[in-house]
Amino acid sequence: MENSVPCKSCKLCCQGGQAIYLFPKEGDNVSEYETMKLYNPVMREEGTALKFKDNGDCVYLGKEGCTIYDRRPVICRSYDCRKQFLMYPKKMRKEVMNKPLYNAAKERINTLPQAERKELRAIAQLRNTDKVRGE
Ligand code: SF4
Repeated sequence: MENSVPCKSCKLCCQGGQAIYLFPKEGDNVSEYETMKLYNPVMREEGTALKFKDNGDCVYLGKEGCTIYDRRPVICRSYDCRKQFLMYPKKMRKEVMNKPLYNAAKERINTLPQAERKELRAIAQLRNTDKVRGE
């Protein structure tokens, strides 16, 4: 599933220490990547994520963009910052998105069809009322 985000030259989802978790059940071969263990606040457990460079960029981010584009992990293929923004309640957004990415996603919200926005907000509402986090 490819995304349709109007990224233009934006690479914020590959920067700023943004966690890129791997999902073997979805087809990621962990042994193909440089990884590290990282707590996943959504799953509420430690996950396996791509390593960062010292500046917080993904280890695979180069000057021209992703250096492993053809074999990038499933999350990179399907990620849509607008959807991530909308499908979490406010307090969780800041746990799962760094600030520049949060702001970029917020600016792009209206490029998603209204019906989809409504659906995602309903998911956030469910999360807010405990069902996902058990709060
Ligand atoms: S693997 Fe490529 S697309 Fe995914 S975060 Fe790293 S640089 Fe970005």
